[in-house]
Amino acid sequence: MRKRILIVTLSVTVLGILILSLLFTDVFYRGAVESAEKQLKTYGNFFDVSAPFTQAEAEKLAERLDASRVTYMSADGTVVADSAAEVEGETREDRSEVIAAIAEGEGFSVRRSKTVGENMVYYCFRTEGAAGGAPAGALVRIGLPLSSEIEYFVDALPTIVWFLLLDILCCLIFAWVATSGILKPVEKLTKEVATSSGGQVSTKYPELKPIAKLMNDMNADIGEKVAKIKEDNRIEKLVLDSMEHGIVIFRDASDLILINKTAARLLEYEENEPIALFSEDREIADSLAAGESASFYRTIGEKDYNFRFTLGEPNVLLITDVTESMAAARSKNEFIANVTHEMNTPLTSIKGFAELISSGTVPPERAESMAKTIIKQSDRLANLIRSIINFSAIDSDELPDYEVNVSELIGELIGAFEPKLRKKDIALRLDIEQGVKVMSRRERLVEILNNLISNGIRYNKEGGSLDISLTGGASPRLTVRDTGIGLSEEDKARIFDRFYTVDKSHNGAGGGFGLGLAIVKKLCRRAGWTLKVDSKLGEGTAFTVEFCPKKG
Ligand code: ADP
Repeated sequence: MRKRILIVTLSVTVLGILILSLLFTDVFYRGAVESAEKQLKTYGNFFDVSAPFTQAEAEKLAERLDASRVTYMSADGTVVADSAAEVEGETREDRSEVIAAIAEGEGFSVRRSKTVGENMVYYCFRTEGAAGGAPAGALVRIGLPLSSEIEYFVDALPTIVWFLLLDILCCLIFAWVATSGILKPVEKLTKEVATSSGGQVSTKYPELKPIAKLMNDMNADIGEKVAKIKEDNRIEKLVLDSMEHGIVIFRDASDLILINKTAARLLEYEENEPIALFSEDREIADSLAAGESASFYRTIGEKDYNFRFTLGEPNVLLITDVTESMAAARSKNEFIANVTHEMNTPLTSIKGFAELISSGTVPPERAESMAKTIIKQSDRLANLIRSIINFSAIDSDELPDYEVNVSELIGELIGAFEPKLRKKDIALRLDIEQGVKVMSRRERLVEILNNLISNGIRYNKEGGSLDISLTGGASPRLTVRDTGIGLSEEDKARIFDRFYTVDKSHNGAGGGFGLGLAIVKKLCRRAGWTLKVDSKLGEGTAFTVEFCPKKG
């Protein structure tokens, strides 16, 4: 701005000075012409009309008149004598001063003389003539050299240059003072804006008020936008940090763009440190070096994670907890292996005995016992299949619940266990509160009761006892307590697993397949009931079902 003001003022004043210089030159020139004309008119008085009208007299007069040029001409303008050149006989009738003198008696003109090669002011007048002197009507012309307008200008040029220099100095001072005066309030306003950190600014200068208003509006707008961006960032961070998946967006191991809390925890990320896993895990490091998107499974602590790398600009790593899905896959494989194994045992036995019988070499009394074994193993196989179906059916059982009288149900079921109780000489003690009802389905409660009671007999000692108690109220509770072999702490934690049996020897013979308690647990879990086991190795076991939904 300062430069601009300087250029404008400088241009205006320089132009002004030049125009003024030209004008003054013209005025001076005119003045000079006027005074030359007056001088020439005075010089005219020095002409002696009676003196001979000759070259010598012309030169004498010219000398007297301070080296002016004197020309004598006849009445028609033919040169008779000239003090500056030998031009006798030439005519000057076409010169404007001569034309004026012939017509009006006198005339002036200013022009460059071809004869003397100078700028001249001429004064020409007509004489009356005198005897022995100038002939009547003769013309006398006196000329004085006069600088031309350009010469005047050139003469004034050094002064003009000095003026210009002075002008530049003045302009510089003026531009500095003027711009300081104009810019000061603007600079003050700018400073205020810079230090207001988004606040309101004001100015006392009315010219700057629209700018201050504009800045305030812009500040408010920017403030709103910044607040929105901050809020968006906060929400984005909140979402990312509350995700159970880990997310890392990165350019390379030490150039991270974003990492959420889960990823930072799993990768043990330290701020400003490269992610160790990216270089320490050979497989991952190789894949990153090759620039290939890939997926890896890694175990951290007790959990399994899937690391999915999508490489690009930038790279993205998504870490997903796959513990459950992997456990489910493992459990499915285990289940299939267990089922196959459990089925294989009775089938081998059935096939073996059947082959022996069909060979015809077995005596009839042995064939009968073999056939009984085949029937027994077939029953086991059927039991196994039924148990598996029962176990799987629980998940898809969406039938509605209704009120079941558990007190009555125990009474109905217990009779069927009497032969087994008698066989092992087990004393049954019932402590059943009447009219205890729970919301369920009869077949589910039958499954639970049958499993718990049959286990209480099966794993009881000869001459032991079996206590079944049922209490009602707000939280009905069933307890089946035996005085049997009991469970070790390790087995207690595993008896609810599918196909888990403590004594592997009875598996496939008189014992079960390890599915009974798994079914009981699954049924309780689906109903929201609590199943507890309390046992001491060698002393006995008690299973308790609390028929009220778990809190929380
Ligand atoms: P099973 O059909 O083999 O009895 P369960 O799932 O009912 O299968 O039981 C799993 C295992 O838990 C049994 O093999 C047994 O070792 C143990 N168990 C179950 N009930 C009792 C009990 N009342 N006393 C001692 N051990 C028991």
